[in-house]
Amino acid sequence: MDFTDLGLSSQLLEAVRLQGYTTPSPIQIQAIPSVLKGRDVMAAAQTGTGKTAAFTLPLLQRLAAGRKAGSGEVRALVLTPTRELAAQVAESVNAYGSRLPLRSAVVFGGVGINPQINALRRGVDVLIATPGRLLDLYSQGTLTFSRLEILVLDEADRMLDMGFIHDIRRILGLLPAQRQNLMFSATFSDEVRRLAKGLVHQAHEIAVTPRNTAAETVQQQLYRVEKAQKTALLLHLIHTQNWSQVLVFTRTKHGADRLARVLAKAGIGTAAIHGNKGQGARTRALEGFKNGTLQVLVATDIAARGLDIEQLPWVVNFDLPNVPEDYVHRIGRTGRAGASGQAVSLVGADETGQLADIEKLIGRRIARETLPVLPAGKPAPQAARVPTVPEPAAVAGDGVVNRDAPKPARKRRRRSRPAAAGGVGQQHSGSGNHYKGDGANVTRPGQHSPQGNGRKHQTAPAKNGNGGAREPFRSRSNGSARRAAKV
Ligand code: AMP
Repeated sequence: MDFTDLGLSSQLLEAVRLQGYTTPSPIQIQAIPSVLKGRDVMAAAQTGTGKTAAFTLPLLQRLAAGRKAGSGEVRALVLTPTRELAAQVAESVNAYGSRLPLRSAVVFGGVGINPQINALRRGVDVLIATPGRLLDLYSQGTLTFSRLEILVLDEADRMLDMGFIHDIRRILGLLPAQRQNLMFSATFSDEVRRLAKGLVHQAHEIAVTPRNTAAETVQQQLYRVEKAQKTALLLHLIHTQNWSQVLVFTRTKHGADRLARVLAKAGIGTAAIHGNKGQGARTRALEGFKNGTLQVLVATDIAARGLDIEQLPWVVNFDLPNVPEDYVHRIGRTGRAGASGQAVSLVGADETGQLADIEKLIGRRIARETLPVLPAGKPAPQAARVPTVPEPAAVAGDGVVNRDAPKPARKRRRRSRPAAAGGVGQQHSGSGNHYKGDGANVTRPGQHSPQGNGRKHQTAPAKNGNGGAREPFRSRSNGSARRAAKV
């Protein structure tokens, strides 16, 4: 199967070629023709399967065939749970739509709203948004959904986990009944299913990854280790195994900060990313990690959701998650798009219960590694309280108002920070390449983070227009996928 067999226009095939994709992924093979036909789609697909292109490519083609968005109008709405995912989807929309005369914008909370209002005024063909900020903008009369043609709910399960159900229902109530609906979710809980019931109609149901099964390409291993020795073990592994780029998960924001400080003190370029960080700090941390100036990114589950870092070789569970499904999401950060990856868990005696739940969920026993000889177990050193990624002066310590944070913790304050360095309301028109704003959150087509900065394993093939073909997807589906996913 080739991209040319899917019914895509020459402009989109060219965009795909420029990305270096050679073979469509299973979700793309199944979803693209259906979306092009105008059908609703409900897909069980986790990040890393190529799902973004699976909905973006046909969506752009359908929009390109219709009347352009007029003032304040939105023709396609993509809802995502996190700002990072919103920015990444916007990046894909920009890249795939580079040859189409369509306008797009991305809006999310935690940054100034005015540039977003300005971006929406002229109308946009594609709007990528997190729910809270979208409702803010709608309530200010900035946009209208009267001509909305397509709705995409991306990572629906995570949206529900994050408490967005009421916002989603409110948004659904604002949309015209006649529209195409595309829903993507890594897992299908009863709640997701209930949401789907009122949303999609006679949908093409697709399942490309068995429910709750860790990516086959990820090698999983664990160390049973005293809590007090986890930091020493992590440092040992980073050094002795030459981990060039490692994403480390902690259970709490506080734990993420503490670990980041200790690693930074040990001379390892590290940043922490979690919901309490301002958007500027999050963007800088992600960029630094992507371009290799930071070797370690310490993240909590919610902050890491949707991070698309190409060919990330190592993921570490410094703490096991309480919710076993999060383990699957975490290790899905590596081994993406068919590449191989390693997931290492540091499991303390107090985490035996979580480990049992995870192994039950994934249906296999994770390989136990022998603990190397470590410095005598003592509590992790307390590093000086210095942020590893400083906040911009304008927002330092201002208690960021994050409308996209989980509901229970959400503050209803309306104070928003001044726009952190760009990344909001990027809009492109004409060539599709002309973003307004400084684009800090969105990489423009053809622009890629600098590499070759001393990282030891620079394995990522070039992505754009430079002849570097991407690894073709390996199918992760199997005969039981549909049954397992219960879509
Ligand atoms: P997603 O599941 O949308 O997060 O995509 C995961 C990664 O796969 C992204 O970095 C995409 O650029 C990449 N990707 C999407 N489609 C393909 C393809 N057909 N071949 C190779 N890589 C792809």
